[in-house]
Amino acid sequence: MTIMPNSVEARDMAYQMHPMVNLRKYEKSGGLVIESGDGIYVTDNTGKRYIEGLAGLWSVALGFGEKRLAEVAKAQMEKLPYYHSFSYKTHGPSIDLAEMLVKIAPVPMSKVHFTSSGSEANDLACKMVWYRSNALGKKDKKKIIGRIKGYHGVTIAAGSITGLPRNHESFDLPLDRMVHTSCPSYVHFGLEGESEADFTKRMLKDLEDLILKEGAETIAAFWGEPVMGAGGVLMPSDGYWAGVQAILKKYDILLVADEVICGFGRTGKMFACETLGIEPDVLVVSKQISSSYMPLSAIIMNDHFYQPIADESDRIGVFGHGFTASGHPVATAVGLENLKIIQERDLVGNAARLEEKFLGGLAELAKHPLAHSSRGIGLLGALEIKPWADANAGDAAAAIAAACQDEGLIIRNIGEAICFCPPLIITAEQIDDMFGAVARALDTVQAAHA
Ligand code: PMP
Repeated sequence: MTIMPNSVEARDMAYQMHPMVNLRKYEKSGGLVIESGDGIYVTDNTGKRYIEGLAGLWSVALGFGEKRLAEVAKAQMEKLPYYHSFSYKTHGPSIDLAEMLVKIAPVPMSKVHFTSSGSEANDLACKMVWYRSNALGKKDKKKIIGRIKGYHGVTIAAGSITGLPRNHESFDLPLDRMVHTSCPSYVHFGLEGESEADFTKRMLKDLEDLILKEGAETIAAFWGEPVMGAGGVLMPSDGYWAGVQAILKKYDILLVADEVICGFGRTGKMFACETLGIEPDVLVVSKQISSSYMPLSAIIMNDHFYQPIADESDRIGVFGHGFTASGHPVATAVGLENLKIIQERDLVGNAARLEEKFLGGLAELAKHPLAHSSRGIGLLGALEIKPWADANAGDAAAAIAAACQDEGLIIRNIGEAICFCPPLIITAEQIDDMFGAVARALDTVQAAHA
């Protein structure tokens, strides 16, 4: 692409430092400028339209043109554009949303604390875990178990719980208090000849061995996405979550479920904890909570978690934490309206009803010579790519993602997979369009490398 001086691309390259790119490469290549959106589509500044197969960053449940969210935001901006929730102040939108979240939570929960991003929510949940251990007089019970390939964000604590090397390298992470156990994806980590049941047993043994090695009295919490997202849409093996929960109970370890991607319908139930039988003490949510129209996240906690924290704040005199934007009135008003729309239009049911078609379409694509296998749940899935002989790991998936973009489909390549997480409003016909673009992209790449 030729970049004209003073064009929007040139100014972007001159002034903006982007996340999750090779910065040197960006200085030369720039990025795709997205200008508008509607439904499951976004349009770039040349007028080319794309299906957004990853719903932005796994987040735009309602698609890109939901007018009701814009109207609610405008009305809230005009009524009370900003207020905080510090120092014994509160406001309606945050109260309404907190009440709704407690009511729809998959297990009995008692309190909600608002933050603005998934990283912030996980970071704070980690601080709360430490605060709570101190409240209980368990000064040494501070370690957190994350998982290899788990993703919980990029702030210092959340980034440390994340189990992906690229989020640690040169950032001096992880912190010493964070340890990582094995990734429960049978497809990726099952051994030759090992059954799925034996694999699950091995995963659980790894976890228990880690707890015993570190000392159970030093471990405060286990963090996990019900289905791993940014690690590459990695499914937990059969029996994994039931086994993990039994071990955590045995050693008095809290369970934090990070539903930042899975929450609000992605897996065909309101929460993946329902889909997979997980009973967390703390639930972290973001993204689809507001369809990402406004930055918003929340920590939803049970009484067992909350009560010691409240006691400690009483002893100290204050819960010494808070963000200026916690419970922001515009963000929480938009979040509430977004969840009402998800319920009114039964978009959770839409994900459940389309699951068979979506996973069936992926399984069809997996028959392509360049594909290896497929996996997924609800409207979250991945196609594992089989690289051609001289391709480096990941290059083939990157080439296919680029070819998809040429075909008018934006998706994400992670490792050797291409990942799908379309807006929850997607229809059966649009799933056909999306996979049609993938099939053409696979053929193009295969022709280039045959
Ligand atoms: N947790 C999970 C499971 C996520 O997928 C993400 C973002 N992809 C985060 C946390 C971090 O959220 P944010 O980017 O809003 O900080």
